[in-house]
Amino acid sequence: TMPFKTALTEALGIAIPVVQGGMQWVGYAELASAVSNAGGLGILTALTQPTPEDLRKEIRRCRTMTTKPFGVNITLLPALVTPNYDAYAQVVIDENIKIVETAGNSPGPIIKKLKSAGIIILHKCTTIRHAISAEKLGVDFLSIDGFECAGHVGEHDIPNFILLRRAAQSIKTPFIASGGFADGQGLAGVLALGACGMNMGTRFMCTVESPIHENVKKAIVNATEDDTTLVLRRWRNTSRLFKNKVAMEAKKIETESPTGKFEEIAHLVSGKRGREVYLNGDVEYGVWSAGPVMGLIKDIPTCEVLVKRIEREAEETIAKIQEMMTPVRSKL
Ligand code: NAD
Repeated sequence: TMPFKTALTEALGIAIPVVQGGMQWVGYAELASAVSNAGGLGILTALTQPTPEDLRKEIRRCRTMTTKPFGVNITLLPALVTPNYDAYAQVVIDENIKIVETAGNSPGPIIKKLKSAGIIILHKCTTIRHAISAEKLGVDFLSIDGFECAGHVGEHDIPNFILLRRAAQSIKTPFIASGGFADGQGLAGVLALGACGMNMGTRFMCTVESPIHENVKKAIVNATEDDTTLVLRRWRNTSRLFKNKVAMEAKKIETESPTGKFEEIAHLVSGKRGREVYLNGDVEYGVWSAGPVMGLIKDIPTCEVLVKRIEREAEETIAKIQEMMTPVRSKL
């Protein structure tokens, strides 16, 4: 296959413009190193580590598993226990990480701190307004996160066909596409829409190296694009979850509660409880994030096989489109 050359592959020195986005309780060294070894960019999730010192250990563990670049995700969103973001960022700087995926609210101070240490920032956002603010903060790349995404979808519900073209019209910073992608046809599509790469979460959850229970991977393979639901809109922290009993119970309380107190559903949506799903494989035990892209996912490949396949599919797709143009050209 032909090597890719985009703003993302050039800046990071990676072979294929595919990023494994931050995923709570999934983004451990096993997955990040496998994605980086396959030629993409693997990402460790900072808050999955209970303390900044644990993140330091995880970064060092990941370095024993790959010599390729990998990044760290720092997500700034409401949490049941507020993390010390600054301390996590300091560890990232001390451990010489070259790229950080930031996401969430008021990222200014963290971005400033990381940028002053020379770190490349890939900032995830679900609206053009946030993309423009992040551009003003000097981020290097944006990750444009459509309504198709898993987890925190934002409050505006704009799918990627609109959002990516809006990004191309409104921002100068190079951007990647996030939310709804699982194959090389998707990669070819987003390159056409103006992106310089593609982010995948759910697709990478469902790989051999993904350090979660096999039952969860099988649930993804068996699920369709109808199997997600949105909760937490009432608190402007909308989250797209796998549609199971706990998620539907939380949604019912959210809709029907006269008080609207977050505490009434905290025990249902808690991350600690969701983590048990990944550890024990009972997909109904707690809430967990997944995207409607589940409908496209039919297997559990290694990251190497997946990334190679995406590369081949993208190339074939681009060639096919070129063929569609040839008859027109030959008439000239
Ligand atoms: P948690 O147990 O702290 O919270 C569970 C869910 O409730 C999360 O979606 C959280 O955003 C939300 N929440 C908590 N307090 C809230 C409040 N007062 N109002 C509205 N919503 C509230 O979550 P966790 O699984 O332990 O994750 C810790 C942090 O990491 C959270 O901020 C979470 O959103 C974030 N996160 C990160 C990633 C990532 O890829 N890095 C993915 C998902 C979530």
